[in-house]
Amino acid sequence: MKVFKFGGASVKDAEGLKRVSAILKATQGEVIVVVSAMGKITNALEKLVPKLDATEAEKQIRAIEEYHLAIANEIKEPYRNAAYETLQKDFTNLRGLVKDHPINNQDERYDSIVSIGEIISTRIVSGYLSAEGIINEWIDARNVITTDDCHRDAKVDFDKTTDKVNTYILKTLKEKRIVVTQGFIGFSDKGHVTTLGREGSDYTAAIIAYCSNAESVTIWKDVPGVLNADPKKFKDTVKLDHLSYQDAIELAYYGASVIHPKTIKPLQNKNIPLFVKPFSDPSAPGTCIDADNNHLLVPCFISRPNQALLSLSPKDFSFIAEENLSYIFDSFAQLRVKVSMMQHSAINFSVCFDNGLSKLPHLLDAFQDNYRVLYNDNVELFTIRYYDQATIDKITAGRNILLEQRSRYTIQLVLK
Ligand code: ASP
Repeated sequence: MKVFKFGGASVKDAEGLKRVSAILKATQGEVIVVVSAMGKITNALEKLVPKLDATEAEKQIRAIEEYHLAIANEIKEPYRNAAYETLQKDFTNLRGLVKDHPINNQDERYDSIVSIGEIISTRIVSGYLSAEGIINEWIDARNVITTDDCHRDAKVDFDKTTDKVNTYILKTLKEKRIVVTQGFIGFSDKGHVTTLGREGSDYTAAIIAYCSNAESVTIWKDVPGVLNADPKKFKDTVKLDHLSYQDAIELAYYGASVIHPKTIKPLQNKNIPLFVKPFSDPSAPGTCIDADNNHLLVPCFISRPNQALLSLSPKDFSFIAEENLSYIFDSFAQLRVKVSMMQHSAINFSVCFDNGLSKLPHLLDAFQDNYRVLYNDNVELFTIRYYDQATIDKITAGRNILLEQRSRYTIQLVLK
């Protein structure tokens, strides 16, 4: 049995649904299909999390609804009507959540509202496939992916999820060959909807593959495979035919957005290969990621913009050792700030982190009393795996290097 994951870009319109259907028609055997919210719908739903004026909220919900109904219109009857009926219930549910879910519990509210994107997209995909003669069952991932209560970044309980994959997915798969379920979303033991972090649908595919001992996972993308750099930012990119789990996890961790960083671990743990394939050309080989540990022949580079660099020196001249480090990391954890790079000396700790959520002022508050604090906002973190001097020179030309760290295969540079 295989696991396929289709991201938002792959199901953003009727053309996308047609391709999903063609790919599934051409695939033999059992397939678990994991689908994200359509297009940029997660961003649109995020805007409904803060309390909006009722007319404005309704305007935004209406736009989301119309976008989905237009795509659902491509479903052939009688499946279209059935899909419309369930979608109507989902939108009533969304309206209720936006209006009534307590605003004081922001992250819980976020998960309840934002998860609806995946629910809706899978209803449409499942209905479309049925109308095309592809028998399938829609399965609610909230009955399967069991997590803790850490909203927006929930941790998966693999044992409980394995039991539920057996109960809800594998039995159905025997009868129907194809099941369609949501990426990104889960349910906590305490009875709340949770999400696994933005772009988390890849991770869901890996979790399900792990729990069901799948033969492979394929992530269908709008790129030919994993490239050595982001083609939107760099010219002359090269597609990588093969990557080891280790290179893949390092590249994803440093910010290569083609795969969610959490995806690799469950697959490596069970030696399940991951294919990244072009949605527009399903027979192309794409990239295969597995346990084969051969080094890449080209440097890979990853740029992470919108970082902040913070330098902390204890005012009392105490060493950057256990006590200071535990206070510093505790503050980062409490504010849920993700560290991208760090370096320390006797009395200095430098840390680069993603400042997308504008956490810098909160961190300054946490540290200002006991540390001398310096910072640079809006810097770029550049990672080159399998670096060479020519690549470093190209990247750093005319720029100010604020921090540099090298290991045998990887160099990281914070650039202004
Ligand atoms: N829909 C979610 C997001 O946009 C999850 C995903 O697409 O993987 O972050």
